[in-house]
Amino acid sequence: MSEAISKTICLIHPNRAAAARCPECRRFFCGECITEHDGRLTCAQCLRDEESGKSGDKGQSRLARIIAPVLQFGVGIVLVWMLFYFIARFLMLVPATFHDGTVWE
Ligand SMILES: [Zn+2]
Ligand SMILES: [Zn+2]
Repeated sequence: MSEAISKTICLIHPNRAAAARCPECRRFFCGECITEHDGRLTCAQCLRDEESGKSGDKGQSRLARIIAPVLQFGVGIVLVWMLFYFIARFLMLVPATFHDGTVWE
């Protein structure tokens, strides 16, 4: 019984208890060795394999990897710009309501 529990230890750190199982290689890892990548758990080893590029998909994933940060950057810029735009609008509206209101009679 206790043997089954002792088996769930980190592959890299045998003195640590496993926190999660890698869905890719189906091996157990501790919280430090396993990371969340693209919304799913992946061990450091599988992540490295993925980063170096799979032989399965050609070119497309590399292109997506180049475009994705650019798109994220663009979306980030637009979001920041919108935020500042609405803050500016809000700040411009606030004094107007102050003057139109009954605060100063
Ligand atoms: Zn793995
Ligand atoms: Zn570990």
